[in-house]
Amino acid sequence: MVASHPVFDGHPGRGERQTTPNAVWSGLDHAWQVAFRQAWEAFRTGNIAVGACATTPAGAVVHAARNRVADSHAPVGEVFGSSLAHAEVNVVARLSLGRRKELVLTTTLEPCLQCSAVVRLGPIATVRFAGADPLWEGCHDFSPLSRREAARTHVKMIGPRGDEVGVFGTLISRFWDHGPTVQAFLRASGEAESLDLVRELKASGTMPKLAAMEVDEAFAYLWPQLRALRPSSKPI
Ligand SMILES: [Zn+2]
Repeated sequence: MVASHPVFDGHPGRGERQTTPNAVWSGLDHAWQVAFRQAWEAFRTGNIAVGACATTPAGAVVHAARNRVADSHAPVGEVFGSSLAHAEVNVVARLSLGRRKELVLTTTLEPCLQCSAVVRLGPIATVRFAGADPLWEGCHDFSPLSRREAARTHVKMIGPRGDEVGVFGTLISRFWDHGPTVQAFLRASGEAESLDLVRELKASGTMPKLAAMEVDEAFAYLWPQLRALRPSSKPI
């Protein structure tokens, strides 16, 4: 008789931390929670679920904003109803000109090319991002472009998070239908399981249920799937 050994059964492996969604969520610092609340509001309002905030080096929130590509209004100074209306753009747009380049931008998804450029021009010293985005991997270093860029202090990039929070950041951004070309690229870049999960959540009528939850409740609801999708859970 041959014993069956599942490659991954969803349970934490040997030596892994035993934890709960509530413990992970409450362990997030204020900026992460603010950014994810913004992302969730983006999802609930029919936008791409990405949120961000800028904080001082001491951790005080200067401005928080979200994706507004599908919105018909926004706070003064933010972009809405445009493909440019990304969360990071709407954070940096509200930061005063001439501010010292010392702020930390915390965002739920790896910044796109546009947002990386916006960050480069803004008063941002460090970017922390939760979810990886293969669409924009490798688009954050402008130093090869010119002598001046090569000589300037680089924006420090911290991410993606290797935990359930990182998986959640990427997953919720895929609630938006990016179209077949982008989906094919993402599938080829290792996101097939995430995209299948999103498809399943939509087909089973779970999306309205999720939208009725607070972001931490949705995180807890999706916890088993988030754990299974963590990079460390994948067979090598
Ligand atoms: Zn962007």
